Amino acid sequence: MKYIKKKFSIEGISAQKLAKKFGTPIYCYSYKRLKENIDNFKSSFKSFAPLICFAIKANPNVSLIRDIKKLGLGADVVSMGEMMKAIKAGVNPKKIVFSGVGKTENEIKYAIDKKILLINAESKNEIITIEKIAKSKKKIVNIGIRLNPNTDAKTLNQISTGKKENKFGVNEKTFIELIRYSKNSNNINLKCLSVHIGSQILNYRPYIKMLRVIDKILKKTNHKFEFIDLGGGMGIPYKDNSKKLNFNKYNIAIKKFLKNNKFKIIFEPGRCIVGNTGVLISKIIYIKEAGKKKFIILDTGMNDFIRPALYNANHKILPAIKTNRISKKTYEFVGPICESTDKFSTLKKFQKLNEKDIIIICDVGAYGMSLSSNYNVRAKPIEILIKNSKINIIKKRQKLKDLI
Ligand SMILES: *Cc1c(COP(=O)(O)O)cnc(C)c1O
Repeated sequence: MKYIKKKFSIEGISAQKLAKKFGTPIYCYSYKRLKENIDNFKSSFKSFAPLICFAIKANPNVSLIRDIKKLGLGADVVSMGEMMKAIKAGVNPKKIVFSGVGKTENEIKYAIDKKILLINAESKNEIITIEKIAKSKKKIVNIGIRLNPNTDAKTLNQISTGKKENKFGVNEKTFIELIRYSKNSNNINLKCLSVHIGSQILNYRPYIKMLRVIDKILKKTNHKFEFIDLGGGMGIPYKDNSKKLNFNKYNIAIKKFLKNNKFKIIFEPGRCIVGNTGVLISKIIYIKEAGKKKFIILDTGMNDFIRPALYNANHKILPAIKTNRISKKTYEFVGPICESTDKFSTLKKFQKLNEKDIIIICDVGAYGMSLSSNYNVRAKPIEILIKNSKINIIKKRQKLKDLI
């Protein structure tokens, strides 16, 4: 993704052209970026060859999942719907792990029938439910237990999951009690210790802390785990000058951890696999003067892309066609939704814009389409993937008539 002759282009195809062809808004992904991210992830941790389970919730488009699967990844799912999508995309059930604090009996039954790799349980009562279902099916089910390592991921509070006040996982004391409980069960086989401390983590130190907590617990028990599932959460740079998580430092820490312990490592990355693969292409409907600033009113809003409204996330905004004229007024990019939080960014010295101009919201590949809604009875955008410079429609634009 870059400017070619002043036109913002995805694998050589200009956003302006896509807008003309398909209308706006459009979620547009680059296969090249996707492959680069996966290659980079794999090579960063290649010495211990982890099982990499893509967190489907970051982007549940079946075509994308199919490509991600072909590039060698499994899936981390948090609902029956996600499990069904992963299986539809051809992900081998032996590469699927199932996380979440509220798995229903139906979901657990489905996971057992599909013979997925692991159900990562998050409470004693969930384990009892899994055991009961396994018994009725006369099966032995492989499970993991999610530990809450009480580690501050130093990320946004809304996306922190590994502190003791968060609802996820069990504390150390319960964890040890549950190992004992599992040992005495004929229908569950405890194979995995799992953790996931949060999302958009940019500093490797919380991960080192987390590894230390795991190491300490492993020393306290003599249970033989086959897998350690370290979750996801690896952060990406959303601003030009912001850093990204240092994979190398994390890799060194894991290698050290594996010296005393022989485990297969599982990762559950979402954002760092798909985050920078997608852009949201939108058209300016109106420009409204308001004193010292101008509202740039787009045809996309928080219904299509809620991260700014939900997490105060700041996403880069670019013009589809570059000119050299700079606006004297501050621009506030907003959507058409009837909510004051329906706002993307406030920018000074942006290129001068006109109504009907096309603009690009960057890095929306993760938690973009997956968090979209039909709020205000608006149809969801079309999704397209540019692969080898060819346009593939991977999801049609929703039709209003289907919503009404
Ligand atoms: C959300 C989630 C992930 C993925 O997180 P990213 O920040 O997108 O990498 C992984 N594992 C679990 C259990 C999750 O809930």
